[in-house]
Order: sequence, then structure tokens, then C-alpha cells
Amino acid sequence: MSSLKVGIAFFYHESHTFSPSLTGIEDFKKEGFHIGEDIIGAYEGTKTEVGGFIDILRREDVSIIPLVCAAAIPSGQVTKEAYETIKKEMLAAIERADECDGLLLALHGAMVVDGLSDPETEMLKEIRAVIGNDLPIATTLDMHANLSSEMISYTPLHFGFKTYPHVDMYEQGVNAAETMVHLLKTGENYTASFVKMPVLLPSINMRTAEGPMHNLVESAKQKEKDPAITAASVFGGFPYSDIPEQGVSILVAGTDSQKTEAVARQLADEVWAAKEKFLVRLPTVEEGLKEALAYKGSKPIVLADISDNPLSGGTGDTTELLRKMIELDLPNSLFGALDDEETLKVCREAGEGAEVKLQLGGKASPEFGAPVPVRAEVVRVSEGTFRNKGPMNTGMLVNTNGAAHIRVNKLDILITGRALSANDPEIFRHIGIEPTDKDILGMKVKNHFRSSFENLVGKVVYVDAPGLASNDLTVFDFKHIPAPVWPLDKSIPFDYELTNS
Ligand SMILES: [Zn+2]
Repeated sequence: MSSLKVGIAFFYHESHTFSPSLTGIEDFKKEGFHIGEDIIGAYEGTKTEVGGFIDILRREDVSIIPLVCAAAIPSGQVTKEAYETIKKEMLAAIERADECDGLLLALHGAMVVDGLSDPETEMLKEIRAVIGNDLPIATTLDMHANLSSEMISYTPLHFGFKTYPHVDMYEQGVNAAETMVHLLKTGENYTASFVKMPVLLPSINMRTAEGPMHNLVESAKQKEKDPAITAASVFGGFPYSDIPEQGVSILVAGTDSQKTEAVARQLADEVWAAKEKFLVRLPTVEEGLKEALAYKGSKPIVLADISDNPLSGGTGDTTELLRKMIELDLPNSLFGALDDEETLKVCREAGEGAEVKLQLGGKASPEFGAPVPVRAEVVRVSEGTFRNKGPMNTGMLVNTNGAAHIRVNKLDILITGRALSANDPEIFRHIGIEPTDKDILGMKVKNHFRSSFENLVGKVVYVDAPGLASNDLTVFDFKHIPAPVWPLDKSIPFDYELTNS
């Protein structure tokens, strides 16, 4: 075994600053909060960034020092207390592991803490204060990161996801770890160029299977064929954060500063040229339902309630699409997952087979629609635990905090005890619902679910109901984003800031 030792950590949150619900330490504990050796058990063999770190370090005979992993599902901003608690654990773990030769950090990049708009950069700064300036650090970052140029002053090595749905988390973990091992063995020098653009993009058309982001990612991959370009990443940003770091970023890491700068400038030109293509008008709930009723395909049609997608910070309990699906009494249809702990409790107490009166949804964000009063049959209740079988976060254990399958007339509904996007069919199957048997699926999802559902469904229609993750960015009262910003001001000239590390 080589004598090298690399610390690994994971700190992850995408924070919706318009959401009423704050993300506390309990939310991290529910999703995943591991210190030390537990990390190996939780992530080894999973298709995550940390899974990628572990596999490469093992392959290269590098000792793994598991530090801290903390992740919570996207929601409102993280409380100061939760952030400070996790940061304290992180810094203490790094101090304990004082013989590390390098650090691999899986970060998100769109976390916002109460009173702190760029916590990942602050965390890197604090880590540098502990380890000094010489120990190499490499990070992985989500495509929806809202980054600042300060990030590259702590390390040039950042690896952004190149897929949305994010199915290359593992691959980027592998890239970061392989680069780290190469650096430790050769002493290679890296540099980075960073561009911040005054462009605010809705995420609906950021999928990488087609459209403008597909072209940008393909261009970035092309540029990475040059051995001097280690990672060329285009970050579309997370638009629901009202912070000065908002907007598209480009980060190019490599071994030749002239080349990293040239590539960053080229990608900036390409983003500016493509920006209009990210704006799309979506059908209303009524228009979507009309399309679903007229649909004659052999596989189900999905009505994606994108404005309440929990992975975009939605509360998972808005009721406009649900209400209309109940009113229409659609045959052979399914709605889910609706986050409603209160309803879940009633179902559990009544038991399977019981008939219950319920007020569905509309509790966390009633401003987007009142609860829907119904009489329902409780078909089945479960603890709500399963492992993902689809291509995203494969193998990760999911806990929905309880689940119930209820039936309102002919409509099947999945209730969960917390807000979760139905990104893996197991969320339905674990409780005995087979989504592919249905004709119409009303789902609180945006793009990630397509990694599992693309082959199972015949058509996907995005509907824009009222909700925290609306596609229409003009409905948000931004106060802290840089101004002017496109498309809120469509007259702004082409301009950006470039920083080299
Ligand atoms: Zn993302």
C-alpha cells in the first residue's frame, strides 16, 4: 500500500431562499449525517461522488480517511445552527486526521445559510485555515451551483456535473479522485479560470439529453480532450436563491493558464448565444390535463408538477394538480408523492382497508392552494424505506418517513411523511403500486425522474401550477441578486467577469 492518505467528505444542500421551511440539523440527520467509518458503509458501492472517491482511492492503494458526510434534501435555507454544527464536526475531523495528504470534498455549491450566502466558499476558507495552503483539495459540484470567484482562490480543482438528471455524480467523484492521486504522485501544478455571467436561468430546459445545455456540455467535453484541460464545467445555477452569487458560472481547471482562460471565454460566448433557448412557456394544469386525456399511447403519460418539485425546493404538498385530477375522477391514474405527515398519521391509525376522511396537502404552503377534502380508502401503509434501483444515486437507501397508498374514487395517491421527488420507481413499487400499469401519472418531479422513468413512460408534460419552483422567474421578488441580470433585464449588453487562480 502507498503511504498516501486522503480525507473524504460530503456537504450538500440546495437552498431555496423563498421557501418558508428552514433546513435544520434534524433534516440532515434524516437524509444522511455520518462521521468517520460510518461513511464507508453508507456510500461504498453507491453511484455517488463519495462512492467514486472510495473506489479510486482503494484502486490506487491510498488510505481513506472518512471525515464527515452531511446531506439534506433541497429546501429552505440552512439554519446557522445546523451549518455551524456540521462545520465544527468537519473541522474537528480534519484536525484529527492531521496526516492527510489531500482532501476530496463533494459539495453542492448552492447552499445558503441564514446570514451567509456562500457557505461552501466559507467552509473552504476555514478548512484552509486548519490545513494551510499546501495540501491539495479537489471538489465535485452540482450543475446547479451558484458559485463565486473566491472559490478558486482555495483550490483550482473543481469538477462540475455534466448531466441533468445528475447521473454522473460517481464519474465526477472518480475524476476528482484520479486527479488528486495524480497530483500527489507527480506534484503537477493546476490552475483555474472562472467566469461569472449576469444570466439567471430557469432549470426546466437545462436537461442534458437535448437542448441548449446538451450543446454546452458537449462543447465542454470536447475542450477536455486537450490534456491541459482537466475539467471544463458549465454551472447553470439554482435560480431560487436570492443571493449575490446568483447566476451562470463557468469553471475551467487545467495545467495551462492560457488555455483554461481561453476555454472559459469560449464557453461564456456559447452560453450568451444560447441563453434564449433556456426560456420556455409551459402549459397550465388545465392544458396539461387536456393533453393527457387526449393521449392514446400505450405507456403512461406524466403530468410533471414542476413548480412543487421537492428537489427544486418545493414543499411537495401543493394541491392544484391534485385537486383537478380528483375533480376529473380520472380512471387508472396515480398521483404522488404528496408530502402530508398529518394524513399519513390518520391512515396509519385507521389501518389498511379503512375508509377515512382526509384533508390532502396544502399545509406547508397553503398560499399555493388549500387542502383538498376527500374520502379515501387506505390501501396500504409502509415504513417507507427502499433502495434506489434506477441510475441516479443507485443503491442509496431512501427513507420517506412513512408512506401510505390511498385511493380516492379511481385515483391512486402515494402519501409520504416528507417531501421527496419520485425520482426512482421504487418509491411507488415498495408499497405495491406499479406506475407503469397506469394511464396518467401526476408527479411532483422536474427533470431528475427522467433518468429512471424515460423508458417507462410514453410522454412527459411539464405543467406550471402555482408553487415555489415555478418556471416563471418574474414571480419572485429578488432583492439580492446582481442587477442588471438577464432575462429580468433583456437589454443588458454581453459582459462577464473573468478571474484566474
Ligand atoms: Zn442539481
